[in-house]
Amino acid sequence: MKSSEIRSKFLDFFQSKSHEIVPSAPMVIKDDPTLMFTNAGMNQFKEYFLGNSTPKSERIADTQKCLRVSGKHNDLEEVGMDTYHHTMFEMLGNWSFGNYFKKEAIGWAWELLTEVLGIDKDKLYVTIFEGDKAEGLERDQEAYDHWKQLIAEDRILNGSKHDNFWEMGDQGPCGPCSEIHVDIRSAEDRAKIPGADLVNQDHPQVVEIWNLVFMQFNRKADGSLEKLPARHVDTGMGFERLCMVLQDKQSNYDTDVFTPLIREIETVTKTSYGKDEKVDIAIRVIADHVRAVAFSIADGQLPSNTGAGYVIRRILRRAIRYGFTFLDKKEPFIFRLTDTLVKQMGTAFPELVSEKNLITNVIREEEQSFLRTLDQGLVLLENMITTAKGNEISGQKVFELYDTYGFPKDLTGLILRERGYSYNESEFDSELQKQKERSRAAGKVETGDWNVLADDSEEEFIGYDSLEANVKITRYRKVESKKEGELFQLVFNLTPFYPEGGGQVGDKGYLEAANGEVTYVVDTKKENNLIIHFVKNLPRNPEVNFKAVVDAKQRARTAANHSATHLLHQALRNILGPHVTQKGSMVHSRYLRFDFSHFSKVTEEELHQVEDFVNARIRESIALEERRNIPYKQAIEEGALALFGEKYGDTVRAIKFGNSMELCGGTHVTNTSDVWHFIITSESAVASGIRRIEAITGDAAKTYFMERSEAFRKVQKVLNNSKDPVSAIEKIQEENTALQKQIQQLQKDKAKGLKGELKNELEEINGVQFLAKEVPLDAAGMKDLAFELGAEVENLFLLFGSNHEDKALLTCYISKEIVAEKDLNAGTIVRELGKHIQGGGGGQPFFATAGGKNPAGINAALEAARAYLS
Ligand code: ATP
Ligand code: MG
Repeated sequence: MKSSEIRSKFLDFFQSKSHEIVPSAPMVIKDDPTLMFTNAGMNQFKEYFLGNSTPKSERIADTQKCLRVSGKHNDLEEVGMDTYHHTMFEMLGNWSFGNYFKKEAIGWAWELLTEVLGIDKDKLYVTIFEGDKAEGLERDQEAYDHWKQLIAEDRILNGSKHDNFWEMGDQGPCGPCSEIHVDIRSAEDRAKIPGADLVNQDHPQVVEIWNLVFMQFNRKADGSLEKLPARHVDTGMGFERLCMVLQDKQSNYDTDVFTPLIREIETVTKTSYGKDEKVDIAIRVIADHVRAVAFSIADGQLPSNTGAGYVIRRILRRAIRYGFTFLDKKEPFIFRLTDTLVKQMGTAFPELVSEKNLITNVIREEEQSFLRTLDQGLVLLENMITTAKGNEISGQKVFELYDTYGFPKDLTGLILRERGYSYNESEFDSELQKQKERSRAAGKVETGDWNVLADDSEEEFIGYDSLEANVKITRYRKVESKKEGELFQLVFNLTPFYPEGGGQVGDKGYLEAANGEVTYVVDTKKENNLIIHFVKNLPRNPEVNFKAVVDAKQRARTAANHSATHLLHQALRNILGPHVTQKGSMVHSRYLRFDFSHFSKVTEEELHQVEDFVNARIRESIALEERRNIPYKQAIEEGALALFGEKYGDTVRAIKFGNSMELCGGTHVTNTSDVWHFIITSESAVASGIRRIEAITGDAAKTYFMERSEAFRKVQKVLNNSKDPVSAIEKIQEENTALQKQIQQLQKDKAKGLKGELKNELEEINGVQFLAKEVPLDAAGMKDLAFELGAEVENLFLLFGSNHEDKALLTCYISKEIVAEKDLNAGTIVRELGKHIQGGGGGQPFFATAGGKNPAGINAALEAARAYLS
């Protein structure tokens, strides 16, 4: 059975059990401060479990792109070493939101695996939660009783809290779970050791494929558990592992999910898979990581230096160095795999197809730059080896290499070993620990539990229509971080405040109580489905009614920038071409920033055209057509632009200004004329294939014009009120060039005259033609003069002094033939005489100069010169 067929079988099965099939949520998470990447199918439904919103259906199934590389679920170090953990994988899942529970979840899982997919019952084991005294939790007898109906009791095993109590993170929904494991060993091996002994023992052929989680609790900030309002089912089955079982393979990498990639890696790196364990690990690492990185880029998350981008960069670098070390690839090669990947997965994930160019370019550029870093690191490492005392390198040095140059410690260790050296690992570890503690302390956020004042699951957003409302606080909590200090987060029953999102900043404003007490809202953000208002102090009585007021001026400026962003997007697609897609956007009240895919610098001419295009739309005074709640499909058919990596519901909001139509949740002007004017302030590169435009509109544009016209007026005034300051300045510049030429010529003439004079002043001392004199020349003039005299006079010793622009200069010239003969050195001489002018200098034995800040000492220096000849 092909993998694509297996995926469909799963979805079809649950559709037949009245589940609604939904698309995968993006892998990169935007609205949840506790999670960077989707690490399980349930993430996108978290709010349903917590009762913060209501699902559109009580039964849902899907396949979800997951990434387990950070936080509570981090499999990165396993990947490649074993054959069944990936960084990015697909999780097949079915959910019940307060609908069915253990009986159906268990029954259907069994039916699908054994009847529909035909897995041999004798190869299956299940586990149930054995209970946990410390948490006050009992054994999951209910699950046991349901399983007992389907499978022999000796195949139902007890599992500890570690394996059989599922938690998404440190806080949030959780509950006991029941796992299904498959034993895919040969019949012979199975006869020797019973599979039951190998369940949850990290055996590569006795692996968990499906986890049925029964959500009953919420883990609070203090670590205690509270019962959820309703009981839910959350299941997750590893798609690649299921393929391994059904395709009768011993490794996920031998299924058709991976074989095309592995063949391509073999070709590109001229290696072969299955002969040498080290090479195999490297090939698996690369095959796995290229998927994770490509999907992340397609979702809009590029490798970068911070946050989620840094995690992606580290994954790619891990692949690069496995290639570097074990496949001997010192040139970029991973980018060559994108073709195969896109061919293979592009049908199920069309974002890969449309972002293929970007994916390829970004990976290639990352490879190039990291390979350069590795080269630098190798040089530094070589230095450490040559300067090492003994055979051990200090852990600090290896840490420095790792921290500053991104040079991985295992690679350092490997190279050192090859050369008969080692490094102090405990020193390295303690440095690493120190660094971790520093960054943990800096980034630590303590989040308290919610204080619930009113049970209100939906917080209505009314900010498209009103900037003021009477509200009640439904819940609040305290958050504390080193960066921002103590803040309170408030949730209202309804709110006019726009939460940061879609690139647009969150609203600011205030709350006013009837007694006149005012509480300022410093920011508004979205956390999953909740709109959270940040305040520095809690109102004295949070339970009263408040008037909530949005800062209208800030909102209007932000709206102008947001609408201008749409027009800019349209302009870029019109002028540069339809390959332009949005890659990032920041809509602030003072400016806007727009990142987009485009492969060369946008020329000045093109930028002008873009500006003109946007300003023409502003001049046309196009009225906003806001379409709320139209079906997603319809909006796309009408030509609305949607973004990859963005999570859209079944119905969407579309923002239309003439021919510009985008799916967007942001706030906009009601007419393009409100944008007033659009000015591009900069164009630059962000990454390979991604450009950035920054621009201003409205009030900021007015200020821009005012400042410039003021500056212009000043210029005019300086130019005697010239009507045409540009030609006036050009004329001044021309005159200036001519004058400079004249000065140079005069200097030359003067030097020539001087040369004649000086020749007459030469004095012979011990066979040397000596002269020490102050001359009215700059450094270049003195040098020319000295060399010219040197060409005409033999056995010459010159010392010139000059007071040039209040700096003292000395120039010493000694004919080459007497340098050795008389043991003179111009460099030493100017250094010594430099003391008189409070300065220093140097040069060669026959010519040297010094500069100092004491022109009064020039004479003394000149007088001291004679002594060198006596
Ligand atoms: P394991 O113990 O094997 O790491 P898990 O307990 O972490 O698995 P769950 O969190 O229960 O797994 O995830 C549900 C299912 O997703 C698992 O049964 C497994 O089939 C699959 N799965 C989990 N982690 C990975 C991974 N890193 N790569 C591929 N599949 C995975
Ligand atoms: Mg795991």
